[in-house]
Amino acid sequence: MVLDCGMHPKNTGEDALPLLTPIAGREIEAVLISHAHQDHIGTLPVGMRRFPRARVFMTEATAEVGSVLLHNSVNVMTRQREEIGERSYPLFTHRETDRASERWRWCPLRQRISIAGERAPQRERDSLTFEFLEAGHVLGSAGILVRAEGQAVFYTGDVNFDDQTIMQAAIFPEEKLDVMIMECTRGDHAKPEGWTRASEERRLAEAFAKAFDRGACVLIPVFALGKTQEVLAMLHKFRRQRLLPEFPIYIGGLSSKFTDIYDRRAHTTRRQLPHLQLMREAAPFVLNDETVRDATLRAGRVYALSSGMMIPNTLSNVFARRLIENPLHAIFFVGYASPESPAGLLREAGPGGEVALDPGKPPQHIRCNIEQFQFSAHATRETLIAYARKISPRKIVLVHGDPPAVEWMRATLSAELPGSEVIVPAPGVEVQL
Ligand SMILES: [Zn+2]
Ligand SMILES: [Zn+2]
Repeated sequence: MVLDCGMHPKNTGEDALPLLTPIAGREIEAVLISHAHQDHIGTLPVGMRRFPRARVFMTEATAEVGSVLLHNSVNVMTRQREEIGERSYPLFTHRETDRASERWRWCPLRQRISIAGERAPQRERDSLTFEFLEAGHVLGSAGILVRAEGQAVFYTGDVNFDDQTIMQAAIFPEEKLDVMIMECTRGDHAKPEGWTRASEERRLAEAFAKAFDRGACVLIPVFALGKTQEVLAMLHKFRRQRLLPEFPIYIGGLSSKFTDIYDRRAHTTRRQLPHLQLMREAAPFVLNDETVRDATLRAGRVYALSSGMMIPNTLSNVFARRLIENPLHAIFFVGYASPESPAGLLREAGPGGEVALDPGKPPQHIRCNIEQFQFSAHATRETLIAYARKISPRKIVLVHGDPPAVEWMRATLSAELPGSEVIVPAPGVEVQL
């Protein structure tokens, strides 16, 4: 069984693939996808090519979002083939993506499914079953509970144990689990003293008001899936509560496609503000690769553009390079960015510093205003630890974190759960569960 088949966010070409060689000779019966972010689903067509007999399972929303994301990824890779001279790109084609997605099977949440894709009888002890459970991270996201031979292995995927503006908190198993494979994204950041989502929203609204008064336009680098819709919902709330005057919002084409899916599924998925139709009520204007170059840097405009990490040649990167040297304007960060990404480098350098957002172009002086807000779609390390303590599994396998984040989680869990074995797996090395 393979859990997730993503694309490495920092590597390119074949190096961005998961390490599939160590399992090349194995019979893989199923590929289970937790959610449709690039680092979890981004190379699924390649995985399906390598394991042609595997069945592929995910939630219905993940399937809908995933197919849009993979087709977009084909376009991006095709462009990069020229731009960065990556001859292996695209790693898969539009046709292959269509054929692959026809073979995906949609799983309802909270239901035991057998590997044959059927609903498994409750008391089936010996056969292998799995179950998808709401992870509260982005639309369609799920943790995956695998049961076999009386043992339970639970993979959290990307999780949030707290409500966001749209997403509702995870509903994860409370029963005894033998093994937990846990994400650690925020392991290197303590929850700030006194932080609440409500107070952070107020701080954000005040920052917008101040920026607009000064005559600024504001760029918010966001992931197309999840953070864009959360930001749109927040901005809509600010307008409705009259915390801010009317102002235009701009998003990218891929973000608008995902927002459409959020809107269409508003009544069939578990979420907050089920009546809010973002495309109609937040009414963002949609920019593309061309129009982002001419978009005016006018006061009171909000540009919520992807990518969240400001990868070169994405809308947020192109737009940031236009405003970064102008002290009038502002960039607001609202979520996670890996420290080596352009967004991470920009945050690190800060106003007065210098940064090369695109390695192919000269570095620039940072003169714009930069503010940071905490609206991560990932669980705080405190809630991850609390969940692990409640379940106290026999083994905990730590994944999906930068080394300092994983190390903090390892040290803390080892100290607080002496009865559990805490494992930090090395890529390609076998671990006995
Ligand atoms: Zn994710
Ligand atoms: Zn992830």
